[in-house]
Amino acid sequence: MSPALSRIAQGLAGSAVVEARRKADALAARGVDIVDFGIGEPDFAAPEVATEAAIRALREGRGRYVDPRGLPALREAICAFESTRNRHEVVPSEVVVTAGSYGALSITARALLDAGDEVLLPEPFWGPYRSIVQLVGAIPVPVPGRVVGGRFTFDVDALRVHATPRTRAIVINTPNNPTGRVLTRAELSAIADLAIERDLWIIADEVYGQLVYDGASHQSVAALSPDVADRTVVATSLSKTFAMTGWRLGYCLAPPRVAEALSRINQYNLRCPTSFVQYAAAVALADAWPEVDRMRRTYRARRDLVVRRLGRLPGVRTDVPEGTFYAFPRIPDAWGTGKAFADRLLTEAGVVVSAGNAYGASAAQHFRVSFATSEALLNEGFDRIERLVATSGRPAEGDA
Ligand code: PLP
Repeated sequence: MSPALSRIAQGLAGSAVVEARRKADALAARGVDIVDFGIGEPDFAAPEVATEAAIRALREGRGRYVDPRGLPALREAICAFESTRNRHEVVPSEVVVTAGSYGALSITARALLDAGDEVLLPEPFWGPYRSIVQLVGAIPVPVPGRVVGGRFTFDVDALRVHATPRTRAIVINTPNNPTGRVLTRAELSAIADLAIERDLWIIADEVYGQLVYDGASHQSVAALSPDVADRTVVATSLSKTFAMTGWRLGYCLAPPRVAEALSRINQYNLRCPTSFVQYAAAVALADAWPEVDRMRRTYRARRDLVVRRLGRLPGVRTDVPEGTFYAFPRIPDAWGTGKAFADRLLTEAGVVVSAGNAYGASAAQHFRVSFATSEALLNEGFDRIERLVATSGRPAEGDA
C-alpha cells in the first residue's frame, strides 16, 4: 500500500473524448475500418516556414532556457498579429507565452482562482474547462444552454441566475467548440457588463479566432474597452490556426499585473515553453498566412459538405458553423440520446463522433462532428451514417 493521492487527483474525471478514442483504437486493432470524426486537430502539416525555422533554431544551438514570459521577439510578433488580425492592441508586458492553450488556461486558473471559488461555464463548453478549474480546487458551475430551433442561443440572463457571491470568473469560448458559433459584439458586451456588475474575471478562450468563415468576424472581448481588458485573460494558441497542435505553443494576454503573476507561475511550472518552438512560432505568425488561408478555404468547403450531408438525415437539425472545424447537430428525441447514437455509430458503422453530453447536460441530444478530415472520408462517414439511419429505421433508444 502506498499513501493516498491528493483529493484533487482522486476527484479528476477522465475525458469522454479520450475514452471514445480508446474504444475506436481497440476496434481498429481488431481490424475494423474506422472513420474518425472525433478528433479535434487539423489534418494538415505545419507550415513549411515554421518547420524550417524550428530546425534552424536547433542547428544554431538555440535550445536553451529563455525568459519565462517568452522570447521577446515572439511576444513582439504576437502583439503585431493581435493588433492587425484581431484588432486587439496589446503590448509585450501583457503577453505570457505558454505550452498551448491548455498551458495558458491552467496558469490562468492558478493566477485567478482560490479553492472554493465558483466559475461559470456556459454550455455547451469544451469539457476540459471543468477539470482545469477543479485542479485548483475551484468549482465549475455549468450553466445550461437554451436551444431554439436546434440552435444554442447565448443567454446572459442564465449566467446572471447562476452567479453567486462566490462566483469569481466566467469562461467564454468564441468561436465555440463544439457549436462553431461566433459570439456577437452585443453578446460579448452583455457578458462584459455582467462581469463588471458582479466584479468577475473573464477567461476568454480564442483558440479558433482565425478559423471563421463567410462574413463572420472574431472579436476579442478584451478589445471592447480598457475596463473589460482589465478583468480579462485571453488564452489562445497556434495549435489550430497553424496546424501546430503537438508543438505546444500558446499564450495569455492579460493586464500587466496579471501577466506578471502568470509568468511567475509559468516559471515554476515549466521554467519556459520550449525555446526552439518559440523561434518557429514568431516566424509562423509573421510569414505563414498563405498556408493558413489555404487551410481555411479547405475547412470552409468541408463545412458546406458536412452541413449538406447532415441536412439529408431526417429530423436532424444543424446550425451552420460560423467558425472552428466542428458541427454540432441535434438528433430527434426518438433516436435516444446523443451518447447512445454515438455509441451505435462507432460499434455498428465504425464512425467516431463525440457525444453531446461531454459538452454539458443541455447538449445531451447533440453530437459533434469534426471536419478536420478529408472530403473523401467525410463522404465515406456520412454514407455509413445514412445507411445506419435508413436500415435501422431509427437508432435504438437508451444510453448504450
Ligand atoms: N480550447 C479549446 C476550445 C479547444 O478545442 C482546444 C483543443 O481542442 C484547446 C483549448 C487546447 O488547445 P491547445 O492546448 O493545443 O492550444
